[in-house]
Amino acid sequence: MTIARDRCGLAFTLAGSDHDVLLLSALEDVRWCTGFTGSNGWLVISRESTALLTDGRYTEQARAEVPVSIDVVECRSAGAMVEALGRVASSGTIAVQEGDLTVSAWRGIAKTVGRRLAPASGELADLRRAKTDSEISIIRRAARIADDALASCVELLRPGSSERLVRDALESRMRELGADGPSYDTIVAGGPINSARPHHRPTERTFQAADSIVVDVGALVDGYHSDMTRTFFVGEPAPEMLVWYDTLLEAQSTAIDLVEPGRAVREIDAACREVLTRAGLAEYFTHGLGHGVGLLIHENPYINQSATAVLRPGDVVTIEPGLYRGGLGGMRIEDLILVTESSHENLTSSPKDPRCPR
Ligand code: ZN
Ligand code: ZN
Repeated sequence: MTIARDRCGLAFTLAGSDHDVLLLSALEDVRWCTGFTGSNGWLVISRESTALLTDGRYTEQARAEVPVSIDVVECRSAGAMVEALGRVASSGTIAVQEGDLTVSAWRGIAKTVGRRLAPASGELADLRRAKTDSEISIIRRAARIADDALASCVELLRPGSSERLVRDALESRMRELGADGPSYDTIVAGGPINSARPHHRPTERTFQAADSIVVDVGALVDGYHSDMTRTFFVGEPAPEMLVWYDTLLEAQSTAIDLVEPGRAVREIDAACREVLTRAGLAEYFTHGLGHGVGLLIHENPYINQSATAVLRPGDVVTIEPGLYRGGLGGMRIEDLILVTESSHENLTSSPKDPRCPR
């Protein structure tokens, strides 16, 4: 089974597949394949036809959004959707996205449809990796909006401002600049405790002199995400934090320099960790180096110590090393990088000068 997308649109081919029908239930895959933007839909690809099953809230929208070659089938309940699957896919094994279906959904489908379900092939997980020019231009715009929003909110990073105030200002600025909203819950984390938590939720805590502040922000545009992080120091930080920052910046740029087609992601992670290890800081880098970004904020390829992916043109990935020690503070620097035909392009342009206000 292959699904390919070219300038003429999508081509679905089940030739050579062990399966007779492919059920795509992950909404981001349904959207990628069809353009459908509703919140409930299954795409059923058989040897004879392709159908989008959705409910009455989205029937009209689906007909407007998906190619005419795809039948839109209205289903009035979740049960009706499973029954429609049985009708559309009238025989043979149904390949499903096992990472997307719950155990009870799997059992319910198998029982109602009365046919064997099998996990779809691994290549599906890579379906959306190679971004087209139009996807890249949307992601580029999302990255630009986050850059511009951060630039206009940097002056708020001063004693007396709270994490929530900065979060709210960033999110509303991104909307003013044309984003549909934030790409994920914006992180603003200040001080020796909060900044040392990689996924801190903004609080009413106000910034104090010598705080390190981690701002992780992205914009959502037409379903696509951007993702970046900058770290700032309010006034003079502890001397140790300045050393950490310089090392972290070196580790990040070492990693970014390695981003190119054909590069094993594990090598990039290892090179980054090597810089931190030489400085005795590797133990404070407690997460993976990066992830793909697209219709999902976290998607393939993931970049970490055990990942096996090899970069390809069209991949959009983050490079985001961080250092965290509760009581001292934390920092992270994250850029969004496009893998080009021969090298890479950094889609994030926010400066990396940590002093503020500038
Ligand atoms: Zn991020
Ligand atoms: Zn990220």
